[in-house]
Amino acid sequence: MNQYAVELHSHTNHSDGDFTVDELHQQALEYGYDGLILTDHNTASGYKELEERAEESRLVTLGGIEWTTYFGHMLVHDAKRLVDWRTAKPDTIDQHILEVKEAGGLVGIAHPYAVGSPMCTGCHWSFNVTNWDNVDYIEVWNSVSPDDQYWSWDAYSLWAGLLDRGTRISCSAGRDWHRKEPMEENPAITYVETEGPLIKSSFRGALEQGAFYITLGPSLDWAIEQNGRYVRMGETLKAGQGQLQLSVLPVMNKTLRKFAPKVERVKVIHNGKVCVDEQVEEETVSVPLELAPGYVRVELWGTIKGKSNELLTISNPIYID
Ligand SMILES: [Zn+2]
Ligand SMILES: [Zn+2]
Repeated sequence: MNQYAVELHSHTNHSDGDFTVDELHQQALEYGYDGLILTDHNTASGYKELEERAEESRLVTLGGIEWTTYFGHMLVHDAKRLVDWRTAKPDTIDQHILEVKEAGGLVGIAHPYAVGSPMCTGCHWSFNVTNWDNVDYIEVWNSVSPDDQYWSWDAYSLWAGLLDRGTRISCSAGRDWHRKEPMEENPAITYVETEGPLIKSSFRGALEQGAFYITLGPSLDWAIEQNGRYVRMGETLKAGQGQLQLSVLPVMNKTLRKFAPKVERVKVIHNGKVCVDEQVEEETVSVPLELAPGYVRVELWGTIKGKSNELLTISNPIYID
């Protein structure tokens, strides 16, 4: 499998970003991204220009928009048409999300626990979603230095709780990129897994399937082997025995290396419980697992920015029938 660095949440001066489309495109290339989704607030007007720029570079882009309402912000990725956000009310959000799905869009809840009014009106998620099956991801890490934001843990708990209740839902990271951030602020990067090269369809496919992980630096390559078949993130295996195969990979992004992330432990979470918590002594870990219906996912823990016992990398789940 190939892994590609992507960013799912970015802005330009078509909404409240400082970047022109050209500057965002340039910054994305310089930072080492392979894929980028533009999600300006309530407008997709910058996308045509971004796509034109990207045609001349190696950047793969998808269209998007950030629904920006009094009741929360929602990322809509790769929809075929614009769905009206203006009539979305707390108790009608399910229908609106369904409409976005029917328009071919992927749905992510942006920064659900960000401070709302008066700091940032509407930034806190207060829509009443009753059907989470139509939500593709929860933005667990938002903005830069997500490891230093208390609301990252609230968002993490929302996501993990939904998994525990049987929802198939991914965690995502969004840099919420508006401008050049201070050098000391570290973003999280999303890595999508694709079988072939990154193109629009494989980018979308990986997001849709949950074939991605988010990281403050360290990469990982993991699968569960079952009867000779390797099952990966977003895929489903059968309950019973499986062999976890995991490799901790070095930090691929050169800017993230400056924050000195170092993996010390691997945790495997199966249906809400930590079933493996091992010190990483070599780069590869191979552990037998006894799996019940539900999900299994992986986290890497270690040090970053001089802090110890930090969550560095979160995988999306493999599901179990
Ligand atoms: Zn927002
Ligand atoms: Zn945003």
